[in-house]
Amino acid sequence: MSGKKLTCFDCGQLNRVPFDKLSAKPKCGTCGALLVGGKVTDVDLATLEKAMRNDDLPIVVDFWAPWCGPCRQMAPQFQAASDILAGQTRLVKLNTEAHPNAGAKYRIKGIPTMAAFANGKERDRHSGVTPTAAIIKWVKTSV
Ligand SMILES: [Zn+2]
Repeated sequence: MSGKKLTCFDCGQLNRVPFDKLSAKPKCGTCGALLVGGKVTDVDLATLEKAMRNDDLPIVVDFWAPWCGPCRQMAPQFQAASDILAGQTRLVKLNTEAHPNAGAKYRIKGIPTMAAFANGKERDRHSGVTPTAAIIKWVKTSV
């Protein structure tokens, strides 16, 4: 079987995307959400962990919260990095206020914190507001 397994961050469905479709804005076969590119999605812990177990592309999570000014300041930088890394690494957000169990499980001490996962394992993490170019550089050296 060729292609990459990607979990839909919107509905949790596991999709298989042919290699030649990775750059063609592939969509979830169940709900139609974009699997690669588009707006960075907010995930819950169950969906994130399913993606970590199954996905063939690395995942970078931005642990954030709506009350956190620096997090909101970083959001457009993170979105821009996601656009540039589309097809190589998928970037998602996790709202630690809405999902406090996730923040506890991953021992998030301060936000914003980015964590990079590949093949089901955490490779690296990085805290503090980070501009787009630095996010991309960090992702490329982490996964
Ligand atoms: Zn879906």
